[in-house]
Amino acid sequence: MPGYELFGAEERKEVNDVLETGILMRYGFDGMRNGMWKAKELETEICKTFNSKHAQLVSSGTAALTMAMSALGIGAGDEIIMPTFTFVASFEAVISVGAIPVLVDIDETLTLSPAAVEAAISPRTKAIMPVHMCGSMAQMDELKAIADKHNLLLLEDACQAIGASYKGKALGTIGHAGTFSFDFVKIITCAEGGAVLTQTEEIYRKCDQFSDHGHDHMGKDRGADLHPYLGYNFRISELHAAVGLAQIRKLGQFLELQKRNHSIIQKALSAVQGISFRVIPDPAGDTGSFLSFFLPTEEMTREAIAELQAAGIAGNFYWYDNNWHYIRKWQHLQNGSFMSRLPEEQKKQVMHYSNLAFPASDAIMSRCISSSISLLWDENQAAERGAKIAAILNNVIAKHNITA
Ligand SMILES: *Cc1c(COP(=O)(O)O)cnc(C)c1O
Repeated sequence: MPGYELFGAEERKEVNDVLETGILMRYGFDGMRNGMWKAKELETEICKTFNSKHAQLVSSGTAALTMAMSALGIGAGDEIIMPTFTFVASFEAVISVGAIPVLVDIDETLTLSPAAVEAAISPRTKAIMPVHMCGSMAQMDELKAIADKHNLLLLEDACQAIGASYKGKALGTIGHAGTFSFDFVKIITCAEGGAVLTQTEEIYRKCDQFSDHGHDHMGKDRGADLHPYLGYNFRISELHAAVGLAQIRKLGQFLELQKRNHSIIQKALSAVQGISFRVIPDPAGDTGSFLSFFLPTEEMTREAIAELQAAGIAGNFYWYDNNWHYIRKWQHLQNGSFMSRLPEEQKKQVMHYSNLAFPASDAIMSRCISSSISLLWDENQAAERGAKIAAILNNVIAKHNITA
């Protein structure tokens, strides 16, 4: 998934434009900036690339999630339904606005199980937050139908799925709001950065204000702005936006390389009897940033991971043991390890929901390996990697079939 692999002259040129003027801030200093408005330009480019009416840049994907929730009016006591497999940022943002992350099972799409979502709806539910993990998509038709039926907000965490689509629509543009992350390991990077996409003018306006201390950006200068709401400083800098501008122009090339290498490796692994692939609701919209597959048992999966490591084949992730991505290891959430005091009711609810058992998710995640796809492999290198991984999987499975 990483855009940093193809960092080069284009990024340096955009950053240099900003360094030449010395105006590193996205607002104001009109006379001194020599026509350079990198953040504005990147927002325009995001709208064009993903066919979105609005986009608001911020300093990170986590900031984008927090801001989207605030702009959507998600706050104290509201329950947000989200998946057991995500990144810590998703529940950090929910807790930061005073809301309760209600974790529910995933299915073999590695994203929200629509049945689990429906079962978790309570009178306090305010939003459903699908997380489009590892470059691919949630079951958006089903989730949208549930959201519509129960009059809930739909907030897409598309931080890992920039450039993915579902039935022709860019992920992040389907829900009431969607978020991107441009941190250093995402599909495109600004070094650090994020964005909220929305098709609703009012939500966009609130994001624009929230990210800059509530400034309405209608005054002749910053001192003359009004502040309809309280905000924060979630601004992106011109230097970061400049990097993103070069990267978004290369997104098409990144996706082409990723999809090519993904399909070469998938072809090699298709010959392995006994594994199955992650279910992709709309295969045409997959970014190809990971190839995720399932072995028959947890034991075989652990053996395969160990063998891949022993063979020096990097980039194979076993999320089940990962401290960042799966509920099983989020001890700080389960124990309520907060630096400052949360309202008692929020803390009680957070600990209740995060300590539930998730046998259905465990059964999937304990058998899942996600193999990351590099932009730097040529076709031969991708084929060679695919063959090596396939040989290891074949060995592990054969050994168990003999002993069984
Ligand atoms: C990276 C990521 C985020 C947060 O993005 P940052 O820019 O690192 O703050 C949120 N959600 C998911 C699913 C992510 O992968």
